[in-house]
Amino acid sequence: MLKGYRKEIFRPECNPGFQSLHCIAYLDEDIREVLPYLNAVLGGDEYYQDPPAVTFRSQGKLITVHPRKIALNALKDEAEADKILEWLKREINEAWEKRLEIEPSYDSAPKPKILEILKLLPKTNCGQCHEPTCMVFAARAAEGVKGPEDCPPLTDEGRARLQDYLSRFRLDF
Ligand code: SF4
Repeated sequence: MLKGYRKEIFRPECNPGFQSLHCIAYLDEDIREVLPYLNAVLGGDEYYQDPPAVTFRSQGKLITVHPRKIALNALKDEAEADKILEWLKREINEAWEKRLEIEPSYDSAPKPKILEILKLLPKTNCGQCHEPTCMVFAARAAEGVKGPEDCPPLTDEGRARLQDYLSRFRLDF
């Protein structure tokens, strides 16, 4: 299905001083037919029918797979872009090979609930996470932008519980 792509890496124009990178991979093949199978296997955060696209949020990144391109944001470096693109290429090709065994999905996956995340935080509004309140942190964690490692006052047990909750909604690549 997907044999290759051409990658472009750039800094976001809106904030050129920002340290993270964006990447667009232009695909050699049109993969629109695999999108509902990929969504079924990986549990996309949002699935769009027209034009077709599926988005995934994980580890503070937003990944959008379109028929002819893949967009990645908030990358540390080029090596991270390569790792995610190679992982996606494998997932895309595997989903296509196994499509007869997969029920295609046109739905968006359930999202973590802000109040459930808040329950697992210390709720002291201490600001050590560089957010004004624990509620704001919970909203950012629900979006996949913040994670348990970003709240220093969490105990090891609390961090593990938050990790366990969030991992039900997140991808591991
Ligand atoms: S560091 Fe943790 S306890 Fe402090 S405000 Fe952020 S989420 Fe709340």
